[in-house]
Amino acid sequence: MYIDSHCHLNFGAFSKDWQEVTDDCVKAGVEKMIVVGADLETSQKAIEICQKHPALFAAVGVHPHHASGEFDVEKLKQLAQNKKVVAIGETGVDYHVYQKSKYPSTALRINPEMKNRQKIIFGQQIQLAKTLKLPLIIHNREANENALDVLEHFCKDDGIYPAGVFHCISGSKKLLQKILALDFYVGVDANITYSQEVQTLVADSPLEKILLETDAPYLTPSRDGSRNTPQSVKMVAQEIARVKHLPENLVIKQTSTNAQRLFKL
Ligand SMILES: [Zn+2]
Ligand SMILES: [Zn+2]
Repeated sequence: MYIDSHCHLNFGAFSKDWQEVTDDCVKAGVEKMIVVGADLETSQKAIEICQKHPALFAAVGVHPHHASGEFDVEKLKQLAQNKKVVAIGETGVDYHVYQKSKYPSTALRINPEMKNRQKIIFGQQIQLAKTLKLPLIIHNREANENALDVLEHFCKDDGIYPAGVFHCISGSKKLLQKILALDFYVGVDANITYSQEVQTLVADSPLEKILLETDAPYLTPSRDGSRNTPQSVKMVAQEIARVKHLPENLVIKQTSTNAQRLFKL
């Protein structure tokens, strides 16, 4: 059994056929999927579709792309208490500057104010994860150790860090070592098939700390702009096995155990 620990079946790309896509995944051996919200609306949608399908579990959170909008932490807390919710996220920091973006008013402007705003709402969600004892799904793109700095700021006083995953792992070996030292998991997507950086990070991560994910509809392995689906976890597992010189079956089994342990699926 495979588990896709991070996909967006709640997004527009799947609005017409998420049910069919999910059924096909289950038939193909991807038996559990975590549907991740990026703002209050898509978090609500994640819960809605998860309530309709036993293979789906929800994560609720506000992505750094949406940091400039209103953020109602009480509303997020309410959503997070739904039975289908297994994590807070995705949330974190993202300093990537897009050439083209569907969020022209926000993502294109990565100025000090935006960076600060991202850290504030990430901090609120770290605290929520701690309060509700839910794991965190952390998005950390081109922000080096900023996500860790924010985590430390909110956790070092009481010494209690939430459990969680650095999804779509990227960055330096040094960053990876710090992530692992805090006992966080590492999420691996199909960009492992073409990214030397990801392959290096995976080679350096213990299998017991790796989760399969797809970020579908994004990060299509072929990079041709077509819609990705949770079924590409198979390719991710295959590539992890190749990079780590391990039997593929072991990778499939252990990553599923990891996801079940972290998210209590
Ligand atoms: Zn992300
Ligand atoms: Zn995502």
